[in-house]
Amino acid sequence: MNDIPPAFDMFHDTCKIEDGFLFKDMAVCDLGLETSAPAYLDAVASRIGYRAYDIEKGDRAGTLANIISRGLEAASISGIGKPVRIDGWDKRCVRAGPVLVESPRWALVVDRAVFPHSIYCFFLTLGREFDRVKEADGLFESYVLDGLGSELTERVADSMEKKLRGQLATSGLACSRRFSPGYCDWPLANGQKSLSKFLDTSSIGLTVLSSGAMVPAKSVSGAMIVADRLRILCPCPVCPKKDCPYRREDVWGEYEYPPRT
Ligand code: SF4
Repeated sequence: MNDIPPAFDMFHDTCKIEDGFLFKDMAVCDLGLETSAPAYLDAVASRIGYRAYDIEKGDRAGTLANIISRGLEAASISGIGKPVRIDGWDKRCVRAGPVLVESPRWALVVDRAVFPHSIYCFFLTLGREFDRVKEADGLFESYVLDGLGSELTERVADSMEKKLRGQLATSGLACSRRFSPGYCDWPLANGQKSLSKFLDTSSIGLTVLSSGAMVPAKSVSGAMIVADRLRILCPCPVCPKKDCPYRREDVWGEYEYPPRT
């Protein structure tokens, strides 16, 4: 297990994120995320199958907003992340210390990069209290909180990715979009095992089960490729799976990152 020498809060400290980050038990407001329920209403409603006109007015929006407020208060967000040097890759996988990314598609991103040197691995969690509140509530409340948990983990991960990309850019480095075990062609259980061998998830109160599931349930793991230059930020632009629901269209055209000057 690797130590993270300068454990720090990536959202407030000034030290370099390249060394790794660790933050614990932070509230939504501490991360600079929206703290008011209405800012999550449309996204959560959509996740649980409502259409816009279902929640435009009336009690339904108020009920959802109250449940969302409770969920936002229960979130106690922690995260850990650190880069590991890439040892090598072939058409099927990328090897970096104890981390094995068994994904031909992401191996292609590395293969097309200019001086790919590390994989930045991370775990983020909303904490056990969020799960507890979700499980203690009734069926509908639990369903809404599940939608909120998914939305919030995405926003936390987006925020971390943005912060990391910005910091790496100041050092002249590029980083790919984040990707997670269980998505694209990276097998869930092996990917999770690999990431948890590298990062001490117990330091943020997170357990990875042999199936790849995580406790607390509302957690996210993943990785990003760090290189001098990246010709593609994710495999989607060159992936033949046209009907993939996870396709990231916004990377079309970003064949050079950073752009040539
Ligand atoms: S289109 Fe889907 S399967 Fe293909 S690289 Fe993108 S996320 Fe992966």
